[in-house]
Amino acid sequence: MSEKLYTKSRKRVIEMVEVSPRDGLQNEKRDVATIDKLALVGRAIDAGSRRIEVTSFVNPRAVPQMADADAVCADLPERDDVIYIGLVMNMRGAERAIATGRIDQLGAVAVSTDQFAMANQGQTSDGSVEACRDIIASAKETGLTGQATIAASFGCPFEGEVEEDRVIAMATAIAEAGPVEIALADTIGVANPAHVERLVTRVREAIDPLPVRVHFHNTRGTGLANVWAAISAGASIVDTSIGGLGGCPFAPGAAGNVATEDVVYMLDRAGIATGLDLEKLIEANRWLSGVMEKELPAMVGRAGGFPKPDMKSKRERTNA
Ligand code: ZN
Repeated sequence: MSEKLYTKSRKRVIEMVEVSPRDGLQNEKRDVATIDKLALVGRAIDAGSRRIEVTSFVNPRAVPQMADADAVCADLPERDDVIYIGLVMNMRGAERAIATGRIDQLGAVAVSTDQFAMANQGQTSDGSVEACRDIIASAKETGLTGQATIAASFGCPFEGEVEEDRVIAMATAIAEAGPVEIALADTIGVANPAHVERLVTRVREAIDPLPVRVHFHNTRGTGLANVWAAISAGASIVDTSIGGLGGCPFAPGAAGNVATEDVVYMLDRAGIATGLDLEKLIEANRWLSGVMEKELPAMVGRAGGFPKPDMKSKRERTNA
């Protein structure tokens, strides 16, 4: 295939972070076997994913689905070219993640409002910023990298609207600790593209030259539009989940992450490279649908890509 040429002609590359093994699965009631989580990681890698949030190191009583964090880490594929992220909420989690010897990057979470921060991790919003900075520092001290996500950047399930200035202040404070990037997360799926464009632009200016990552849930159907708005405003990294699995324990009715295959389809068709293989993602969707014993939310997973391979060859034949 003329894959090289194709990439050469494309102007932009967006990095995708696969979060299905953690965010995708963590709110699923079905207890997914460790071996299936590892197979999901393997399929993501096979589809071209090079940064994967593999698990979280949290209290197993709070998040039973992540109780096998150590077992998942122990059997992760040995790949020098793949960055494995472990999500942690505090220093105890950071120590556990580091102790596995298999996590390359610590993901920390700050929460934009006090009420959500209390519910999610038992601390104030300011406390969560401090925890982020400590986690990033400990990652760097041990030769790992650290990144941070500002949860509920676009709206809070308890306090409603979130001031943009608050998010900017948090991003600025976290940036001082030296993360590889800062993410804006629409944890409960309330963002709209105009808000996304504005906030991504402002945060980008505030933390320059650090990149901005975005994390959207498709709860109200604005997920893909928000990804597009974020990219237009200069975000360069997008969290996605194969099949569009996921939810939020604090947001009733919250839908999953934007689906990897839906985002890859959109960007592929728009001439933006992601390094991911759509057909392999669709295969992964079918496999995961079997594991979960239900149809997954991703739309391209159901409809397939376009044009179909046989259409392509027909066109090529006509051109020849
Ligand atoms: Zn999420």
